[in-house]
Amino acid sequence: MHFQDLDIPNLPRERRGSDYLDVATRADGTMWRLPFLTVTGAKKGATLLVTGAVHGDEYEGVESITQLFSQIEPQALQGNLLMLPICNMPAYEVAHRNSPIDALNLARVFPGKQDGTITQRIAYWITEKLLKHADFFIDLHSAGIAYDIPTLIGYIHSDDDLGQRSRAAAEAFAAPILWGHPLPIPSGRSISAATDLNVPSLYTEAPGGGYAHPDDIACFVDGVINVMKHLSMLEGMLQTRPMTHHLLGDGNLDTVISAPTAGYFRAQVNLLDEVKGGDCLGTIQDSFGQVVTEIKADRDGVVIMLRRLHRVHVGDGLVHLTNYLNNTS
Ligand SMILES: [Zn+2]
Repeated sequence: MHFQDLDIPNLPRERRGSDYLDVATRADGTMWRLPFLTVTGAKKGATLLVTGAVHGDEYEGVESITQLFSQIEPQALQGNLLMLPICNMPAYEVAHRNSPIDALNLARVFPGKQDGTITQRIAYWITEKLLKHADFFIDLHSAGIAYDIPTLIGYIHSDDDLGQRSRAAAEAFAAPILWGHPLPIPSGRSISAATDLNVPSLYTEAPGGGYAHPDDIACFVDGVINVMKHLSMLEGMLQTRPMTHHLLGDGNLDTVISAPTAGYFRAQVNLLDEVKGGDCLGTIQDSFGQVVTEIKADRDGVVIMLRRLHRVHVGDGLVHLTNYLNNTS
């Protein structure tokens, strides 16, 4: 089925459905298409959209979504669970963050363009045919191959209704770390498109590295089910997990401490370390082992993202610092 023919309000009730949604033609005459999984309940209720592999080198969402598809019983569900396990199929095919076809980052082109390139079209159809019908949205990310981020749930930190609903769902999700982001969310993201449509949202991060850790899959599966219980889509008690950190920051991984020179990066801090402005965070060496640059903290903060891939080009992101929600906790 082509994406444009998808009719969410009239999905057949009380069943599991799986199909491919066509986006656009490929050079060989076949279609770029995205796998689409649905579980519809017998009774009416909220519509939850869950997406994975918006970046093609992040596997946690792929595995969590297929587990959710087999675990959620239509008879026990109120409302609709809509899931795209692999949003960025061109990037997924080659295990890259961005698309090899148009070099675009799917998480920077939302809400997309109907007549755009393949990445822009994927964003367009997800926005038009799925996000616009969703009552809540969860985008399952991880750090991918090049970066390292602790397992966390990201939410919109705002006093308005959208922010309150995002935060309450983040607390229900029960990841070890909560990371709030004040509005406005930087543009082009799936959650900025959701925010523009007044759809409350969450997103995840996890260490990634090209391998989906079973603990992270369990956290994400339990987390989505917890949110479904929170939204009255399922009955039952929430699976709680202890929260270790509650952080607050812009979450914009495009504005990180980046490499001023190319070379071999060696971090000298760990994730969640607290650092002071001026502290050495790592070094870049040349091919002879000489340190050519020391990477210094530009302010006080908590290390929330570290470069994992040692080889760096100029401008590559190395470290992102954020803050505690209250500087006391
Ligand atoms: Zn991602």
